[in-house]
Amino acid sequence: MQKKALICGISGQDGAYLSQLLLNHGYEVYGTSRDAQISTLQNLQYLGIRDRVKSLSMSLTDFRSVLQVLTQVQPDEIYNLAGQSSVSLSFEQPVETLESIATGTLNLLESIRFLGKPIKFYNAGSSECFGDTFGLPADEETSFRPRSPYAVAKSTAFWQVSNYREAYKLFACSGILFNHESPLRHDRFVTQKIIGAACRIANGQIEKLILGNIDIQRDWGYAPDYVKAMYLMLQQEQPNDFVIATGKTISLSDFIAEAFGILELNWEEYVISDQSLYRPTDITISCANPSKANQKLGWYATTGVHQIIQIMVEAMQRKLAVK
Ligand code: NDP
Repeated sequence: MQKKALICGISGQDGAYLSQLLLNHGYEVYGTSRDAQISTLQNLQYLGIRDRVKSLSMSLTDFRSVLQVLTQVQPDEIYNLAGQSSVSLSFEQPVETLESIATGTLNLLESIRFLGKPIKFYNAGSSECFGDTFGLPADEETSFRPRSPYAVAKSTAFWQVSNYREAYKLFACSGILFNHESPLRHDRFVTQKIIGAACRIANGQIEKLILGNIDIQRDWGYAPDYVKAMYLMLQQEQPNDFVIATGKTISLSDFIAEAFGILELNWEEYVISDQSLYRPTDITISCANPSKANQKLGWYATTGVHQIIQIMVEAMQRKLAVK
């Protein structure tokens, strides 16, 4: 029997790579967007799989809409990747952030419970939940100390998943994913902002790149690697939560230097760090220990940050060349 997967948040970076992975595994893939009729689904187009994914409209904050889609699709597996996904924007839209993430996850869990079918559920958790661990690597036992409305919402959703797993025996898992990037990363996120500016400057455009705090340190992985971990979590005998990361942390200024360096540019001539763009609260150093995923899922990050920057620069140059 062909398995059916429902991906909530199909238009995003991870939705596209996960669709590709599941199609390659022989799944029938359904994906939701808040308005599938107006969404261009350009990430699916980029991967050449737009016509192979069945798209549907669904509002996660509307229980009726969620229940209706689940009833129609009857999925074997649900991957919840939808919701307001920007930490910066969450300081400006805290209610939208909380509702889309926490109420959205709850509506999915309640609908699964209501339908009473053995649907497996993956929820997109976030390393932002850990807050500042002062350089200590976070694992599945590390306490949450969220430092943004986004992280508060993701922490809420994490505990909802955990509670429904325990109370109602749902096969429900959270992946606590550290930052992951790719050519499909939206240009509102800092990594793609850096790559875009560096490539435009290399092409002769006169431009300054104004960023917030460039001393922050993050563990950056490759999105196609990370969607494999999501899939593997739902293929286990028992539901469980996993930290997904490379285990290596570098600073944002090193990321910038590398991206500009590939293009033979001195980043210090172009990049300005503006204190007015600093977040009200931020994580200084984000560090991870993904050994549980290594051991139990057999999952390892295959692509390091230097390779990722190279891939993103090359993809951006191709994109700018066709414009
Ligand atoms: P994207 O921002 O690329 O995609 C998120 C999707 O959620 C969008 O396609 C959008 O779909 C939907 N969405 C956006 N805003 C809202 C909203 N207010 N209400 C409901 N839906 C909304 O995210 P990624 O693919 O990068 O990430 C997938 C998930 O993983 C997200 O939940 C993100 O928070 C989480 N995550 C991502 C990390 C990363 O580094 N990429 C790290 C850790 C967690 P549409 O507009 O079509 O409705």
